[in-house]
Amino acid sequence: MKKLTSVLLASALLGAALAGCGGNNNSDNTVATNAPAGNAAKDTANSGSGATPKVGVAIYKFDDTFMTGVRNAIDAAAKGIATVDIVDSQNSQPTQNDKVDLFVTKKYDGMLINPVDRTAAGVIIDKAKAADIPVVFLNREPLPEDMKKWDKVYYVGAKAEESGTMSGQLIVDYWKAHPEADKNGDGVLQYVMLKGEPGHQDAELRTTYSIQAIEDAGIKVEKLAEDTAMWDRVKGQEKMAAFLGSHGDKIEAVLANNDDMALGAIEALKAQGYFTGDKYMPVVGVDATAPAVQALQDGTMLGTVLNDANNQGKAAITVAALLAKGETPTKDNVGFDITDNQYVWISYKKITKDNVADAQ
Ligand code: BGC
Ligand code: CA
Repeated sequence: MKKLTSVLLASALLGAALAGCGGNNNSDNTVATNAPAGNAAKDTANSGSGATPKVGVAIYKFDDTFMTGVRNAIDAAAKGIATVDIVDSQNSQPTQNDKVDLFVTKKYDGMLINPVDRTAAGVIIDKAKAADIPVVFLNREPLPEDMKKWDKVYYVGAKAEESGTMSGQLIVDYWKAHPEADKNGDGVLQYVMLKGEPGHQDAELRTTYSIQAIEDAGIKVEKLAEDTAMWDRVKGQEKMAAFLGSHGDKIEAVLANNDDMALGAIEALKAQGYFTGDKYMPVVGVDATAPAVQALQDGTMLGTVLNDANNQGKAAITVAALLAKGETPTKDNVGFDITDNQYVWISYKKITKDNVADAQ
């Protein structure tokens, strides 16, 4: 109960932090894959019928490594259960709202939305409810009060705090096994943090819980620097180069909220001679993307946490297809536990070079 309360509190705080946080990319091409043909989508009345339901899927932006994996998983798992129209919201909430309006106009049977701004979910739920089109959210968790607006609203995701704790534990394991990791021998772990998009539950909670896990293991920490690199590899490289410029060899560990930023940091470290001879830096990320798995094998990335794109995509489209057909998702027909009648939580897993196979 205590844990639940603190999670709810964290969600509420995040909600406040997020108000006003939206995307701003306004270029205007739309990419649809596996779209329903022509007018076929218009004459749907699938509730109760055996026809394949049509589900409109809006991703916050196609140009995101992790969400590309989820998108591919949705597309693959849709085969035989739903016809999907997958569109790019271009990191703009107004663009996404237009896409939702289009889904409603086309009378799709269900929607699967990866919000640009998670606080915008309330508006999307209002539209969905008015049109009686069930909606499943994924990856960016709506606020609890918005989830309560309608019983045909679901969320599929992973517990952000769990990934934070696991990434911190990867650093703990390394620190305990390698006394030389304390480069200046002061008994304190000097670290830098590369944060994802501020206000995103995964950015806020991974940042907090990773450090909490290190402190819980009895290790004293000192934060040398923290900055957002917006989940982005190039920005991760730039911020890490800046951290190295101001703190250089004082840095003893790099924590990144996702693999893309960790891989960017590794590039910046390589440019300063790290990962050759005995010049090493423990770097951890989250996601276990293919390039990150490669970096684990190369010995440049210490560890990551599997953010299970396949199962998140599969569970999300399965729930959306069931709701679209007027059915109630259950553990039996979804294949994953349903919590509080609205949530499907997919587990994270620690990955190092010793168990890369679990991520492949
Ligand atoms: C992933 C990030 C991704 C973000 C998008 C997170 O769960 O770890 O890699 O950029 O979701 O919302
Ligand atoms: Ca130290």
